[in-house]
Amino acid sequence: MPDPELLRRLARFEKQVFPRYKTTFRRLVDEGQQPKTLFIGCSDSRIVPFALMDCGPGDLFIARNVGNLIPPWDMSAGFHGTAAAIEFAVLQLQVQNIIVCGHSHCGAIRGLYEPPPAEATHLAAWLELARDAVLPVRASPEALRRVEQRSIVLQLERLLSYPMVASRVQQGELFLHGWYYVIESGQVLVLEADKGRFVPLDELAAAPAVPSSPATPAEVDASHWSSLAGPA
Ligand SMILES: [Zn+2]
Repeated sequence: MPDPELLRRLARFEKQVFPRYKTTFRRLVDEGQQPKTLFIGCSDSRIVPFALMDCGPGDLFIARNVGNLIPPWDMSAGFHGTAAAIEFAVLQLQVQNIIVCGHSHCGAIRGLYEPPPAEATHLAAWLELARDAVLPVRASPEALRRVEQRSIVLQLERLLSYPMVASRVQQGELFLHGWYYVIESGQVLVLEADKGRFVPLDELAAAPAVPSSPATPAEVDASHWSSLAGPA
């Protein structure tokens, strides 16, 4: 027996929500989707990409997974959903931006310190994609926040292992972005790729060349990120 609340929500969409977007959906069907941005975010229920971007149908191509992680482009056997989404977005939709958006209080990052149940074999293997971001310290709130941010950088680096991504970044046709969403404050910190720091928007706009304080301290080499910025 389906959850009646789910059916109530469906009915509300059909009767109240869809009519407001009917013209938009008709256009998106007639003309096809042409999103300019691939948003790669965590499956966490508190991440709401359309709210973050203040946008709607047709605006974002979205790939979500546990931890906003990027698998390597290694051509190994298997079913690579996130890799397929990246290829579709870049090669068929020809997006101009890829955002990797991590967030505070991420269960995936915590899972690197508190391993999931033994039965969760796929989850445990998947989380290894963030292992190199882990700091050898106790899992304090501050440490987790730093690891969450370090993982975003790690995933962006791995994104560059996709040939179609690397070539378009090199040609200035595609730009990669690292965002860190602080759920409790609604603040999004943006990675300054050339400096390897996550900074608030107001610092980006007011003094983008001089961030006031590093969010990811010295143990991460800023030179790793310079290639993410694309040509000047
Ligand atoms: Zn998460």
